[in-house]
Amino acid sequence: MDFAYSFDCRACEECGGKCCVGESGYIFTSIAELEKMADFLGMEFNQFTQTYVKKVGYKFSLIEKSYQEGFACIFFDEVQKNCSIYPVRPKQCRDFPFWEIFKEREHLDYLLKECKGIQLERKE
Ligand code: SF4
Repeated sequence: MDFAYSFDCRACEECGGKCCVGESGYIFTSIAELEKMADFLGMEFNQFTQTYVKKVGYKFSLIEKSYQEGFACIFFDEVQKNCSIYPVRPKQCRDFPFWEIFKEREHLDYLLKECKGIQLERKE
């Protein structure tokens, strides 16, 4: 896997959903995932995409909402402080924090500050 860290998901319980809030960004997703999300919410696909999805070039992203000083994913539950569509969240969210970008030291430093679940692997 060649990431310099491991991840303890128990940290998510106390974190308040930092990976779903903060600066504006994209939550990329696929048509197959959007179909699952629409089903999960009991919505028609077209109604769902018109309400919650934006096109970014040839890709699709979930939209954001204003939250505190910045933004949150539209599906971030502000009361529970977690994902309201967790069982059908996009692959991008399921893969976090194992994103290619975090193989770069500069981005890894940012991740270490933001995510309590990251544990650097000890080099023997
Ligand atoms: S879909 Fe869920 S896990 Fe992904 S950013 Fe939105 S609230 Fe967070």
